Amino acid sequence: MNKTGFIYDESYFWHDNGSGALHLLSGGYVQSHVYGEDPETKRRFKNLMEVSGLMRQLTSIAPQRATREDIELFHLPSYIDKVKALSEKNGGDAGRMAIVGRGSYEIALLSAGGAMTAVDSVMDNEVRNVYALTRPPGHHAEAQEGMGFCLFNNVVIAAKHAKRKHNLERILVLDWDVHHGNGTEQAFYEDDSTLFISLHQDRLFPSDRGYAEHVGEGNGKGYNVNIPLPAGTGNAGYMHAFEKIVAPIVDQFKPELIIVSAGQDASFFDPLARMMVTSDGFRRFAAFITALADKHCEGRLVLCHEGGYSAAYVPFCSLAIVEAMSGIKTDVEDHFMDGLGVLVETLFPHEAAAVQAVIEQQSKYWKFE
Ligand code: ZN
Repeated sequence: MNKTGFIYDESYFWHDNGSGALHLLSGGYVQSHVYGEDPETKRRFKNLMEVSGLMRQLTSIAPQRATREDIELFHLPSYIDKVKALSEKNGGDAGRMAIVGRGSYEIALLSAGGAMTAVDSVMDNEVRNVYALTRPPGHHAEAQEGMGFCLFNNVVIAAKHAKRKHNLERILVLDWDVHHGNGTEQAFYEDDSTLFISLHQDRLFPSDRGYAEHVGEGNGKGYNVNIPLPAGTGNAGYMHAFEKIVAPIVDQFKPELIIVSAGQDASFFDPLARMMVTSDGFRRFAAFITALADKHCEGRLVLCHEGGYSAAYVPFCSLAIVEAMSGIKTDVEDHFMDGLGVLVETLFPHEAAAVQAVIEQQSKYWKFE
């Protein structure tokens, strides 16, 4: 058995987020074109997994399709009906920039099901950890509407499924996608059994969410940890946040399972954000969270793909992540950053101040050094 699993389905690349999104934004003034969430970016990652030889060294796992009942663990029936109806006709927007194409409903069920299958495969000890190349993505989707390319919230459904089927009491959902995971936050805002930690570009999207002051409500106070980082943060700033905030909180929470919303849109070359993480930075994120999973929960770790919009660079960032999870280094080298390293490896004072501001908000609930 290989210790790392990989989940995808060909149909994940067929979800047509297509020309509709740009048409909405441009008002029809320019030719239709794929906007942002392009299936080719994800397909190119899958292709690099194969060309590098890494795919052959992992355990391939087929995703199960989520049932309507599974989706209702989080989403309102009226919203599910809306996605299904759009999918059966000619598509449209299921919320705020959540484009449904023809047939997208079934693909979204398979995407959420892929996240659930990933959970089952680590809980049943088939593999130690899993990367699920889920598409459409999920972390912006709220109970009542889709948003930001996300139809059903894959990680929320997977976490709720983990509690229901495997009786878990403490789950960590870590979200390093550059945008705030507002849908995941909504799901667990009053829940002390699911710790949600989101690292994101400050006030990028959604601009009114993800503030450090938003620490949870009721029983959930202290179990919602927003880490808004300033535009331009690179590897050093992110790793500072991981070491100063994520590590001590996770050590105190002691999760039984870790699920990651892995969006590689904090990359240096992403067109939809302004951060400066390199493939080596993502490698360090993955090594860091893999070590925490080894320390607290026998390595049980599920990564679900979210955003990441640089068709050139996402494959390298995502490959580095799977290399770190599996402990297998391929001979693929990243030359994109040749000569650019100093900037991304510098911790700037305003980045350290942003991390300190989060510690001040959370020090009522957790101990820090
Ligand atoms: Zn994103």
